[in-house]
Amino acid sequence: MSWDGEYTSQNVVGEITGRSKPNEVVLIGGHLDSWDLGTGAIDDGAGVAITMAAGHLIGQLPKAQRPARSIRVVAFANEEQGLWGGRAYAEAHKAQLRQHQIGAESDFGAGRIYAFKADVPAHAQAALAQIAQALAPLGIAAGSAGEEGCGPDLSPFHALGMACAGLAQDGTDYFDYHHTPDDTLDKIDPAALAQNVAAYVTFAYLAADADGDFGSAPKPEAAAPAAK
Ligand SMILES: [Zn+2]
Repeated sequence: MSWDGEYTSQNVVGEITGRSKPNEVVLIGGHLDSWDLGTGAIDDGAGVAITMAAGHLIGQLPKAQRPARSIRVVAFANEEQGLWGGRAYAEAHKAQLRQHQIGAESDFGAGRIYAFKADVPAHAQAALAQIAQALAPLGIAAGSAGEEGCGPDLSPFHALGMACAGLAQDGTDYFDYHHTPDDTLDKIDPAALAQNVAAYVTFAYLAADADGDFGSAPKPEAAAPAAK
């Protein structure tokens, strides 16, 4: 293998426009690139497929039944070489940070989701509990308070202050295939994939229709180290 230089790639962004608060956004997504040994089915074809399917299903609803806020699905460019797409998204949207209500990323294959967690302020706990209750019939438990699960591509925007939710997946065999020639579609269980889609539909719809916000706010600049 060799290094063949640099080129320009793009984030791919699709959006289901919200019913009444179209400028407020719930952000879901995965990353478009993959390691070059396998096909990238689990890393991260699954994440793009899961979140794109969730956006597609919500987009098929009659307009009057759409959630209040917009749902934005992003297939991030070039995660593997250093979160370039995620960093570019954060830089391009930092002026709209508060409009990004909450984000969740799928980047751990297609194993079943077993827990839902988010670190949000007290005023958002009721909305979070409503989402957790709706996820419970899918076999998803409410995670412990204080945990969060921001995916790699969302971490640059999370560092600036966007609220994040984590849909934690069974990754028992993830690292058996991750970044190997064995990362191929036959490793994905269709039933588990469908459970992931159902969970992302539930999360995205209810977060986009929740009363109140989830606490996204610019973080104060880190204090400059004192001169010595
Ligand atoms: Zn990945």
